[in-house]
Amino acid sequence: MTFPVHAAVGVGVGILAYKYVPAFQDERVVLIVLLALLFSVWPDINVAWKKMNQHHHDITHYPIFPVGILAVAVYSSILGTENLEFVIFFAILWLLHLCLDSFGVREGMLWLWPLSKKEYSVTKLSNRVKLERRKITAHYFKHGVFVAEVLVVAAAAGAILSSF
Ligand SMILES: [Zn+2]
Repeated sequence: MTFPVHAAVGVGVGILAYKYVPAFQDERVVLIVLLALLFSVWPDINVAWKKMNQHHHDITHYPIFPVGILAVAVYSSILGTENLEFVIFFAILWLLHLCLDSFGVREGMLWLWPLSKKEYSVTKLSNRVKLERRKITAHYFKHGVFVAEVLVVAAAAGAILSSF
């Protein structure tokens, strides 16, 4: 999905997390929302070194890393380690980014990397079609992922509005 969708989801999840995670209520709401925003968008930092239509083929988009962090954090919390809420929050928002990126236009997600390099996408991929820049925009609006993005942003807006 696109950057504005990841950002909207980050803000929405940040507000919900502040409301429902007791440990976060000791902090300022602005801090939780800003962290959620940052944790939601950071995987796309790799467009600085990867081509846009290949940026899912990179360390920031391989699910094994946030899944590993989440597994270690949950296991540690079972052992009684405290203050893991932010680590778990980071891993969940990272995973959420990857779930949203599974609604692809030109790229799927490599959910089974390093076992497989197969790309998975909820929506039909057209990554083998070579399009001019102008046509890519038109293609995006006709593609099913645009509808999915509108629904996700509406859900995030609902979360944000419900907090007032
Ligand atoms: Zn991404």
